[in-house]
Formats: sequence, C-alpha cells, structure tokens
Amino acid sequence: MTKTINTKVLVVGGGPGGYVAAIRAGQLGLDTTIVEADRLGGTCLIRGCIPSKALIHAAGKFHELAHADNIGIKLPQPASFDLGQAVKWKDGITAKLNSGVTGLLAMAKVKVVKGRAVFSDAKTCTVETAEGPVTLRAEHVILANGSLPVELKILPFGGDIISSTEALSLPEVPKRLAVVGAGYIGLELGIAFAKLGSQVTVVEAQERILPLYDAELSRPVERWLKKNGVTVHLKSKVTGSSGKGKKLVLDYETAEGKAEEIPCDKILVTVGRRPNTQNWGLEQMGVDLAGAFVKVDQQCRTAMKNVWAIGDLVGEPMLAHKASAQGEMVAEIIAGQKRVFEPAGIPAVCFTEPEIVSVGLSPEQARAAGHEVKVGMFPYAASGRAMSMEAAGEGGFVRVVARADNHLVLGIQAVGVHVSELSGEFAHALEMHSRLEDIAGTIHAHPTLSEAFMEASLAALGHAIHI
Ligand code: FAD
Ligand code: NAD
Repeated sequence: MTKTINTKVLVVGGGPGGYVAAIRAGQLGLDTTIVEADRLGGTCLIRGCIPSKALIHAAGKFHELAHADNIGIKLPQPASFDLGQAVKWKDGITAKLNSGVTGLLAMAKVKVVKGRAVFSDAKTCTVETAEGPVTLRAEHVILANGSLPVELKILPFGGDIISSTEALSLPEVPKRLAVVGAGYIGLELGIAFAKLGSQVTVVEAQERILPLYDAELSRPVERWLKKNGVTVHLKSKVTGSSGKGKKLVLDYETAEGKAEEIPCDKILVTVGRRPNTQNWGLEQMGVDLAGAFVKVDQQCRTAMKNVWAIGDLVGEPMLAHKASAQGEMVAEIIAGQKRVFEPAGIPAVCFTEPEIVSVGLSPEQARAAGHEVKVGMFPYAASGRAMSMEAAGEGGFVRVVARADNHLVLGIQAVGVHVSELSGEFAHALEMHSRLEDIAGTIHAHPTLSEAFMEASLAALGHAIHI
C-alpha cells in the first residue's frame, strides 16, 4: 500500500543546495521533508568538491615530498604512493560528512525519504523507497536536483572512458591519462594525477586553458603544466577512441586539421555539466526552462506558484556555495522573510597548481561595463610569506580592480599557492562595497599571504610599500 506524507516544504535533492534549504527551513519551524535518491551530500560531498580536494591534497603532499631536497628534506628512499589507501581515506571523509548532514537534518527535525522523486504534478511526487512506495504532497517544493556530467556521443562513458566520479575512485594511478577539456575538473584532476606520476595529455577545444578565467590568471597554471611535463593540445577536436586498456587511443584533430592520436590507459572526459532536468517528471510541473536550465527569478521562483529551484539546476555558476546561498534564501522567503538573490559577487576558485580565485569584475570586464578603472597588482615574488612557503617563484599575484573616480572595488583576482583561502576576504570586501582605502587601511597580519591584498590595494592607490 502507498504511504502518503503531507508536508509544508518538500526539498528534492540532498546536495549543498537541497540539504542547506531543508536545514534552514527546519530551523525556521517549517514542516520539512527532503528526498534524496543517492547519498545525502550530493555531488559536492560525495563525488565532487570534497573528494576531489582530498585527492588533490594527497597528490600535492606526495609531490612536495618528492621535491623537498632544496629545503633539506631528504627521504631515505623515493616516496611511493598507494592510491587504494588514499581513496579509502577520501571515502572516510565523505562518509563522515554524509553522516554529519544526516545528523544536522535530524537536529532541524527534517524528515528524510530515501529514493527518487518522480512528479505527477507540481506539488505531488512518488518515491519508491526500500519500505515501499511513498506519495508526497507539499505546499512548497524546492527543486535542487543538481547536475550530471556531459557525455560526448563519440566518447560514451564506460570502461576506460571515465567521468570525474570514476576518476576519484580509481584502483591505481593510470600510467598515461588523456583528459578531454581543460576546464575546472580536467585541470584540477589532471594536475593531481600528473603529481602522482601519470603522463597526462590534455585536449582542449578553445585557444587556451581555463577559458573562464582571464589569460593573466591562467598563465601561472600554463607554466606549471609545461614545467611538469603535461602536454596540452589547444584548439583541438576529439574525434573518438579505439582499443582498450594498454592499447587505448584517443583520436583528435589538431588546430590545423591534422588527425592525431594519444595512446593512453584512461580517458577522462570533463567537458562540462548539464542540469538534471530529465526523467523525474519536471515536464509535469508547469515550470519554464531557460535554455537547458530551470528558469527562475531573483528569488528562485519558477513559473509555477510555490515551486522553487536552486543550485546547478538553475544555471551558472554551477558552484556549491551558490547552491547553498540560494537554498538558505528560499527557505527564509517561504518562512516570510524578505530576501532577494543579488550578491555583489560569487567567488570562483580553481584548485589547480597554483590556485586561482576570482570574484567580481576583471579589468577587461569592468572596462567593457563602461567603468574607468584603477588596477593594482602585488606579486607573490615580493611577499616574504610566499617566499617562506616556496610559493614566490610560481608567478602568483593578487590583483584589485576599482573604479577610478571613487575607488569602489569592482573585482579581485588572484593566482598562487593557497589563494583559495583568501577568497573569503575578497568576497567580503566586495559584499561590503569596500573602497581601496578600506582594504589598504585594514592592518593585515605579517607574515601572511593576505598582505598581498592590502599591497595590491595600495598599488592601485599609487603607493605600494613593498614594490
Ligand atoms: P547536487 O550536489 O548535484 O545535488 C543534487 C542531488 O539531487 C543529488 O544528490 C541527486 O542524487 C539528487 N537528485 C536528483 N534528482 C533527484 C530526484 N528526482 N529524486 C531524489 N533525489 C534526486 N563546486 C564548488 O563550489 N567548489 C568545488 O571545489 C567544486 N568541485 C567539484 C568537483 C567535481 C569533480 C564536481 C563534479 C563538481 C564540483 N563542484 C564544485 C560543483 C558542485 O559539486 C556543484 O555545484 C554542487 O554540488 C551543486 O549543488 P546542488 O545542490 O545544486 O546539486
Ligand atoms: P568546465 O566548463 O569547467 O570545462 C569544460 C572544458 O571543456 C572547457 O574548457 C571547454 O572549452 C572544453 N570542451 C568542451 N567540449 C569539448 C570538446 N568536445 N573537446 C575538447 N574540449 C572541450 O567543465 P568541467 O571541468 O566539466 O566542470 C563542470 C562544472 O563543475 C564547472 O563548470 C564548475 O561549475 C563545477 N566545478 C567547480 C570546481 C571548483 O569550483 N573548483 C571544480 C570542479 C567543477
């Protein structure tokens, strides 16, 4: 017999969008139910942000140990890497986070239904759970179904052709790894595998790596790839693959139209992600689409009354912190609060070597928007802290873009070792509508990498101290 649950708020999807929306709704006293088909935590906690950063950390540590002679660390024998052990450690982290989310939902008195929600109308869905079918009816539905990797017809996933999900749980480090797409995932994971000893070759359709970031920011990453033997074929088109295992070959066409092949053991396809809009009854819900995404307004309302959508399902940037911020907002709106999603900026971080951060407008974007700008840059090469962390030779820098007339900060970008940890200060400065003088006038602790932000602001004002 089908069990029926009536709930005030139904959240579909337990990723960083959905679980945050559900926790906040529960905290606000709303009767809330969340449905998750797989494991609570979603792409981010289970097969995305966290597991990839764990693997990147393990690879970075291994690589550092193997290159530490200059600072006096000599290993009695070359370090070896046990990927099986690293994957076990990474799985331990995801398990801990998964049970953490379960606990937080329980604390907020959110009911969890395990299974896939299939909608028959905007406010009704059925879930086949292990205990039998459950029908859920809700006053408000928050769609947080997330995204899936884009599959290329000529390189269908399966066997040695893998997506990021399989790349995060390989039994051994592939000797030769071909990567299709030099975006976020291709380079974050490609670099990690290169550090672990894979011979990595990247094929990218565009004319440069990380086309989402400006060329000045991606240059230090380009240099790292070159120095560390990663081959990158730009303006190239993959045409297919043949063979299996040791005989596997990735076929591609060069910028000049010449057919070439890359012998490899695995092909990692990372050409983007697409919103998960199919096969769960979205078409029964009366919502509109904007391209492939679910269309929402600035409060994440869809075209159907009291159906809301958040996260990767609703568009770029497809980032975990955007999903969470939207989830929190929607819960608060349902509870009667006045909220609109209009952040001054959403920080984007790429965990490459070195790392890249960008929030707000680049100099080019600011000029294109009609601003006359002041740009200040401070190189890691002039930072004592960067030197003491062996980070000064990587070409890293912090760059601040401000309006020339009133010095209002419009954007902040940086590239360098550990810059990801500065992203919070950058986003905060932008959200607080800081002016260059606010940042320059804030005493930054010495020696820290954050001093580079203060110095870049001083540079924009024309009086940096250390350059
Ligand atoms: P998801 O996290 O995709 O969650 C959606 C959930 O909905 C899933 O758990 C799914 O099982 C469930 N679901 C879908 N349909 C149904 C249904 N019908 N019924 C029940 N449940 C359903 N972002 C960052 O900000 N920083 C990073 O460092 C970063 N690294 C990444 C690394 C990798 C390898 C990948 C793949 C992604 C990474 N991302 C990163 C992107 C980030 O994971 C996503 O932006 C984020 O997870 C989106 O959150 P979401 O809640 O919208 O969707
Ligand atoms: P992406 O959009 O970052 O990069 C895809 C790359 O593939 C682009 O450079 C594109 O030009 C290239 N490409 C597309 N089709 C191609 C083809 N046929 N042949 C060769 N190259 C091709 O996508 P992704 O790396 O798959 O990541 C997906 C999304 O996940 C990202 O957009 C981001 O939102 C999220 N993500 C974020 C982080 C982070 O925040 N650090 C990390 C990983 C993933």
